[in-house]
Amino acid sequence: MKGIGAVLIDIDGVLTVSWKALPGAVAAMERLRAAGLPLVLVTNTTSRTRAAVAGRLAEEGFPVGADDILTAPAATAAYLRAHHPHARCRLINSGEVRADLAGVTLVGEADGDEGREAPEVIVFGGAGEDFSYPALNSAFRQLQRGARLVAMHRNLYWRTADGLDLDTGAFLAGLERAAGVEATVTGKPAEAFFATALAHVGAPAAGALMVGDDIESDVLAAQRCGITGVLVKTGKYLPETHRAADGTPDHVLDSFAELPGLLGLG
Ligand SMILES: [Mg+2]
Repeated sequence: MKGIGAVLIDIDGVLTVSWKALPGAVAAMERLRAAGLPLVLVTNTTSRTRAAVAGRLAEEGFPVGADDILTAPAATAAYLRAHHPHARCRLINSGEVRADLAGVTLVGEADGDEGREAPEVIVFGGAGEDFSYPALNSAFRQLQRGARLVAMHRNLYWRTADGLDLDTGAFLAGLERAAGVEATVTGKPAEAFFATALAHVGAPAAGALMVGDDIESDVLAAQRCGITGVLVKTGKYLPETHRAADGTPDHVLDSFAELPGLLGLG
């Protein structure tokens, strides 16, 4: 493959599952590093900060640091600072990412029901125990009062060590329908997220490749931005989802371990 000068890499389901390195993934990344290829890890992970993600990946042997990682929470903070400066934001998220939300005013549920302290923006992170009926119902009521809805992603499920787990997109779809609103998505598949990643590696879309296990949010979304899309058959990959997708990946690999070969790096 010619003309690829930078690589965008999804983490969960591509490099790791449940934060354990997939077979051959560390060696493949070392090969990309040895070739001097600029790379950036682009993740919708909402359970950990950039620093924590980098630390965990380094423990698994991946040659990466926090500066190599763009997360949906960091992209969300940038969006909120630009489009809703100083707004009171209510975060519904399972995981600790507040360190990546610098400059965002977070208010608690107790502040939210009425009066001046009501949140102006409801921010959906990743699903988990925090997506309770009381939390979702409170968000629904705040949306009816005019709050805006921002979501770090609308992924439907992700792969864990013991199976697929239901994710934010499933809850978001119901809430949007009930409240009659549409969320602004700030992580993948948002075009702005890919644009930030391209700027990070200093490459034009035509010279970049994105590898992911989510055919919609990673691969086809990147291709719509002009980036070469590579789908891997690890993580959340399901043959039926692949067949039913709206488009065709530029390349399909059994795993990330095959990426150096695709790039002609042996
Ligand atoms: Mg993934």
